[in-house]
Amino acid sequence: MADRSDIDRVREATDLVELISEVTTVKRSGRSFMAVCPFHEEKTPSMSVDRARGLYHCFGCGKSGDVFTFVSETQGVEFGDALELLARKTGITLTQDPAEARNRGRRGAAIDAIRRAIEVYNQRLRSAGEAGPAPTIGSLPARRRPGTACSRPTGSGAGSTSRFPGASRVRRCCW
Ligand SMILES: [Zn+2]
Repeated sequence: MADRSDIDRVREATDLVELISEVTTVKRSGRSFMAVCPFHEEKTPSMSVDRARGLYHCFGCGKSGDVFTFVSETQGVEFGDALELLARKTGITLTQDPAEARNRGRRGAAIDAIRRAIEVYNQRLRSAGEAGPAPTIGSLPARRRPGTACSRPTGSGAGSTSRFPGASRVRRCCW
């Protein structure tokens, strides 16, 4: 399986965090990275990126994969084209005709990548449940937690005797 080693070489030479940074915002979160998912609309990053394994998983829409699925899905190209593109980028000469890799490697490698990503993140979720909330999940509700400033939202001037208790303001403040 010569084409398989081409795939592995290109995968190893590609920095997934850098690759994702080219199309979206990536932020460091402890030892891992969080990216604003390019596959669904969002403002806060919910895509976890595992640089060492070269895998990503979005907790918002469930998209998973590796460097090849990322390129093929963000650029709308086939697996073989993603392989060629990344090979060119990393300066690796493919030993196998990419057209052949396209036929043989595409389905297997893509399915493989998605399966591995799901496995890794399922494991992480399970262990996170036992060891307390993972930073990636904890960062989400933190944004919505009402701050101490929200406890007396009627604020300036009017005071509690106001005819309009300002319920809408309370809500906006706490979001
Ligand atoms: Zn997503």
